This record gives sequence, structure tokens and C-alpha cells, in this order.
Amino acid sequence: MKALVYLEAENSIKEASLSAIEFSKNFCKEIYGFIVNSESGNKFVQKLYVLEVDRFIPKIIAKEIQKVIESEKIEYVFFGSTSSAIEVLSYLAGITNAIFFEDVEGYENGYFIKSIYSNKIIGSFKISYDGIKIIGIKPKSYNLAKPMYNSEIIKIKLENIKDDIELIEVKAKETKEIDVTEADIVVSGGRGLGSAENYHSLLKELIKVLNEKTGLKVALGASQAVVDAGWIDHSHQVGQTGKTVSPLLYFAIGISGAIQHLAGMRTSKYIIAINKDSEAPIFKVADYGIVADINIFLPELIEKIKSY
Ligand SMILES: Cc1cc2nc3c(=O)[nH]c(=O)nc-3n(C[C@H](O)[C@H](O)[C@H](O)COP(=O)(O)OP(=O)(O)OC[C@H]3O[C@@H](n4cnc5c(N)ncnc54)[C@H](O)[C@@H]3O)c2cc1C
Repeated sequence: MKALVYLEAENSIKEASLSAIEFSKNFCKEIYGFIVNSESGNKFVQKLYVLEVDRFIPKIIAKEIQKVIESEKIEYVFFGSTSSAIEVLSYLAGITNAIFFEDVEGYENGYFIKSIYSNKIIGSFKISYDGIKIIGIKPKSYNLAKPMYNSEIIKIKLENIKDDIELIEVKAKETKEIDVTEADIVVSGGRGLGSAENYHSLLKELIKVLNEKTGLKVALGASQAVVDAGWIDHSHQVGQTGKTVSPLLYFAIGISGAIQHLAGMRTSKYIIAINKDSEAPIFKVADYGIVADINIFLPELIEKIKSY
């Protein structure tokens, strides 16, 4: 049986895609890849389909994946559950009449494992469907594939593709921010920081020193209160109506720990909470809790990390 893994790359292949490749090995011996405008990933799969396009149009990409599925007789399609991959593969599910199941965290004894009900419980799922199965793996939840092959590369080139929705202009953002779902460490701030100025200056300083000292990817997160106050945009929000993250380390700074926030971060490996209220619910999920005033504690913490 063959699996096709939808791969994504920025400078190199995304870790979310490497987890999807590793996950696919539970099902198939022959693992093929499909990637857009990149040859990253050719060391991780036996055959790599490279789609070259001048515009990224999810439904057109989905149609090209469909052709590969049909010609290679693919039953399983795997991908890292990023928002861009979900957009492409949900089109694919529509046109291939496939099962679409995403944010899977594991596979044990024939069952798919996935957190449900806002991450409060873990469900085991069995898929009984003869057709195509499209399975998304939650970023950071599964081991990364290692390079093993020198794959055959098959190029597909499409020119002058058109969409019903027209992109008029793109502008690069001034700073390239790390997405909270891709980070090893997430530094999240809440209303307890008191002001947008405090939120940005203190947290960005902490992010900078953590990145310098660990070399890990560190991202800025936020509670909904902070997003609603306009301190930062919604792409940073963690929680039920924001993003779900599972980093190695999650800092909850001035965040009370409302159930909707916990839904997006409680599966983090280690949680450090800083709050002046010792009764704050965040301390129930924290591995390390610091009862302190942020304005005093955080600058001291930053200096301490700098001195290591
Ligand atoms: C349908 C729905 C969906 C939602 N989705 C989300 C979601 O996705 N994400 C999300 O985050 N929320 C979500 N919410 C909102 C959620 O219920 C909370 O209102 C929100 O998380 C509170 O944000 P906060 O912790 O920053 O603020 P608060 O609850 O006001 O907490 C601030 C904390 O800071 C502490 N503090 C204050 N000053 C200091 C200081 N100087 N030093 C140290 N600590 C201090 C306080 O003790 C307090 O615990 C949702 C709500 C609903 C109803």
C-alpha cells in the first residue's frame, strides 16, 4: 500500500510535514510526497511530486494531488495540520469524497488518538472507510522522520493559473514572526501585563533572551483578553477560538487560566505560570507556578537568564 504525504516547506521542510511522514509509516511501506514549489523533503520519501506554480491556489493544488492519487492508487494521504495544509486538503476531501480527519496525535493498537472536547479528554478513533482517508497530524505531537532516501522527483508545471478570487498585492511583514504552533517555546501574555506597551516590551525581551540562550524557536502568544484589547492580532491567540499549541515549554504570564485558554495549551510539555493571584486556575495545570507581580518578577527573570 502507498501513502502520499502533502509536504510544506519554508526554507527547509516544515517539522509538521516530517511528523506526517513518520506517522504514515504506521500504514504504508511506500511513502510518496507532494510539495509545491520546492524540492525539500526528497530525502524523506521514495518519490516526490513537485508542483511548480506561479500562484498558490488551494483548489488547483488539490486537483493536481487528486491526479497523483488516481495514477498511484493512493489510499492514505497524510499532512501536518497547519492552516495552509488544511485549506488545500479540505478541497481534496471534497473532490475525492474522502474521509478528512485532522489534529491526530498518535496511533495505538489500530486506533487514532486525538484530544477532543477542547483538549479535556483523549479519544481513540477507528476509521472504517474503504475510500481515501486524509489524515492530519497535529504539529509537535509526533516524532520527526529522518532522511533515508534520494527520491525520484517528478515535476508538474502549471502556468498562468487563474482563480475566482484574485490576489491583488502582497506585502512582506516587517518582521518574520514564528507561529505559535511551530514554536518550541511559547511566551504568552494576558491582561495581567496591564498595557500593550508592557506586553510587547517585557515579553519580546524574554523571547529574545530565551532564543539567544537556547537556540530554540520562541513565539509570542496571547490570551483572548489581550487580542480583544487590540494589543496584538488574533494570529497570536491561544485557546478555543485561537490556536492549539503543544510546545516543549509554555509561559502563561498574567493569564488567569480560563477553560477556553487551557483548551489551547494544556497539552504543552511543561507549563510555567506567573500570576500574582495564588488562586488563579492556571496554577492547576502549571508544572511550575510563580506567585509574583509580573512587573517585578519578569525583569529579574530576564536578567537572570541573560547572566547564564
Ligand atoms: C466562547 C469563548 C471562547 C473563548 N476563547 C478564548 C481563547 O481562545 N483564548 C483565550 O485566552 N480566552 C478565550 N476566551 C476568554 C476567556 O474566557 C477569558 O476571558 C480570557 O482567557 C481571559 O484572559 P486573561 O487570562 O488574559 O485575563 P484575566 O482573566 O483578566 O486574567 C488576568 C490575570 O492576570 C493576573 N494579574 C493581574 N495583574 C498582575 C500582575 N501585575 N502580576 C501578575 N499577575 C497579574 C490576574 O491575577 C489574573 O489572573 C473565550 C471565551 C468564550 C466565552
